[in-house]
Amino acid sequence: MNWYTEQWSKNCNFSIAYETLLHSEKSTFQQIDFYKGEEFGTFFTLDGLMMVNEKDEFIYHDMIVHPAFATNPKIKKVLIIGGGDGGTAREVLRYPTVEKVVMVEIDERVFRLCQEYLPITASGVEEDRRMELCFEDGLAYVNQANDASFDLIIVDSTDPISVGEGLFTTAFYQECYRVLKKDGILINQHESPYFAEYAENMKKAREKIKAIFPITEVYQYHMPTYPSGHWLFGFASKTHDPIKDVKVEEWKNFGLKTKYYNTDLHVGSFSLPNYVREALGNGN
Ligand code: SAM
Repeated sequence: MNWYTEQWSKNCNFSIAYETLLHSEKSTFQQIDFYKGEEFGTFFTLDGLMMVNEKDEFIYHDMIVHPAFATNPKIKKVLIIGGGDGGTAREVLRYPTVEKVVMVEIDERVFRLCQEYLPITASGVEEDRRMELCFEDGLAYVNQANDASFDLIIVDSTDPISVGEGLFTTAFYQECYRVLKKDGILINQHESPYFAEYAENMKKAREKIKAIFPITEVYQYHMPTYPSGHWLFGFASKTHDPIKDVKVEEWKNFGLKTKYYNTDLHVGSFSLPNYVREALGNGN
């Protein structure tokens, strides 16, 4: 039996048994490994950290996409930063009302390898005529993007280390604000409240975004293969409140079948446990 092991904290490891190491390479940006095991199917890691697996990816991708669309069902132009596995784009492209999706992924190898080994997230994405793929740094992309050019920006990034670091900076969030339309929404990876190192990153991300956007909330979801299983996304907006403005009937009219997300859970996901509220400075 082979074991993939990830260190979740100084004193806690998480391991998954796997049968095959499907692919391993060091790209220009990071170490990329694809595994196949019984419990989670095919999964891949970047620099030794779990990114996506066949079994629980639906949770992450439902939650990074659908709350924004249920808050503003009129979203037409979407910018995805990172998201190289294609899962976020796959969910966005399910909305027939979306006209344009730009995905800016720094590492083309991640996308190409997911097309080969993880079709559950990557297949069909490149082929959709509404899709534009850019393989460059997300920070550089937003720096040169036009003012008020997107309805929604989704930051589907790695943790704030290595190549992902720039996507957790005030400068980046300010550029996102500029590039969003007047009723624009920003969804970003907000790390996790449980283990100290992740909780520190969560607090930093929150403070920076709160200083820029008038409406900022944090919502939670349960991700079995991410450290502690308790993860968060940030919801920041210029005008839309994700709880008061949720358009339940309009979202239901899209007729999308989702395995994790529903509009009851939408509202509940913004209700955070007390220790998380406190860590976020009573943010919610
Ligand atoms: N679901 C995943 C998670 O949180 O573990 C993240 C998925 S996705 C694979 C993250 C992607 O962000 C990676 O493919 C990585 O190459 C990309 N990325 C990291 N930094 C980036 C940057 N500065 N610009 C664009 N993409 C970036």
